[in-house]
Amino acid sequence: MTDAPAPAPLDPDFKPRTVHVPLGERSYDIRIVSGAPEGFGPFARSALEATRAGRGCRVALVITDANVEPIAEPFARALTSEGIAIETAVIPPGEASKSLDQAAALLDRLIALRADRHAAVVAIGGGVVGDLAGFVAATYARGIPLLMVPTTLLAQVDSSVGGKVAVNRPAAKNIVGSFHQPIGVWIDTETLISLPPRELRCGMAEVVKYGVILDAPFFDLIERDATALLTLEPEAVRRVVARCCELKAEVVSQDEREETGLRAVLNFGHTIGHAIEAVAGYGQGFQHGEAVAAGMVAEARLAERLGWIDHHLTDRLTRLLHHLGLPTRAPGLDPSALRDAMTLDKKNRAGRIRYVLPRSLGQVELTDAPTEADLIAVLADLTTPDR
Ligand code: NAD
Ligand code: ZN
Repeated sequence: MTDAPAPAPLDPDFKPRTVHVPLGERSYDIRIVSGAPEGFGPFARSALEATRAGRGCRVALVITDANVEPIAEPFARALTSEGIAIETAVIPPGEASKSLDQAAALLDRLIALRADRHAAVVAIGGGVVGDLAGFVAATYARGIPLLMVPTTLLAQVDSSVGGKVAVNRPAAKNIVGSFHQPIGVWIDTETLISLPPRELRCGMAEVVKYGVILDAPFFDLIERDATALLTLEPEAVRRVVARCCELKAEVVSQDEREETGLRAVLNFGHTIGHAIEAVAGYGQGFQHGEAVAAGMVAEARLAERLGWIDHHLTDRLTRLLHHLGLPTRAPGLDPSALRDAMTLDKKNRAGRIRYVLPRSLGQVELTDAPTEADLIAVLADLTTPDR
């Protein structure tokens, strides 16, 4: 395939700013700030005014979860200051809320509000709130404007960019969904202060992923700033979040609906990572970001076996993930169960497992080159306890 797109180089004087996501008439801005939630009001108003449906918006359904509710209030107030009447729906935290039942309850709230196509949905929370609220915005009256205020690192660097919205069914994650781009995304890095440290570290796995797949200088920068990131030094976090949004926006704008295969580059670490999550049991031993961290190391080892990279790169990746407090192995999991889980991956073609593997730092390729023996060796290493 399909090399990753060449992103614009990392600007060393890179200042926190607005990232524009260029998608024709569905283009939108991501604003990255630290503090001053009142700024969300004017930002939301101008994003609404820029769309036909949002013009003259007078009412919005704010969707948040019970953990985020305490920090959501200033953002809701900022909308009220713009003359937008707010109704707030607080869902239970956790993946179980990404359900059709929960979506139906929220759609009923919009109906009760007599919301017309000019009403807006405002998602304030992590990826669960974003995916669910996005699904509601995509389906109510065939689509109403969606504003997002992502409050986990994962949501800020990943799920709030790209327009994928979905809910789960008991037997399949994200199986009922759509593409529905937000009209604006407001990222306030101060919201991360109350985020549990483990959730912060999980988001870091996706941050590191962007460096490996698209941007070697960015990988250097994450290494340099790792401690500042973990202590939420505002400028360091804004810079990294903005760069991730730029990189994802670049990929998404070239493959908005996952048709060209380009968006697959985002799956580095996820082929083995998803298997780790599935075999460990979702939400059990491994959170998504932790499984991706261990998956990235295992997939880098596969690339080593193909002769694409040498072990120094894998060692560097391992050191950085350790520094960020992420696991790099999955001791005790059954390698053959992992292999079986991988045969279900949706990237597979003609019965062959396909991976996104590094060619060098900052460049990946979709491939089915690894043999069964390569995979078995790598999974054996992955599941061996730390020596
Ligand atoms: P999450 O939304 O469940 O948030 C994690 C936990 O942190 C929750 O308990 C939440 O209540 C809490 N929380 C959120 N913000 C907080 C804050 N600022 N302070 C204190 N607590 C806070 O999980 P997530 O990791 O953000 O998102 C995972 C979801 O995102 C999954 O459902 C996944 O499928 C989805 N996702 C979607 C995309 C996409 O492109 N749409 C991409 C990646 C992941
Ligand atoms: Zn991921």
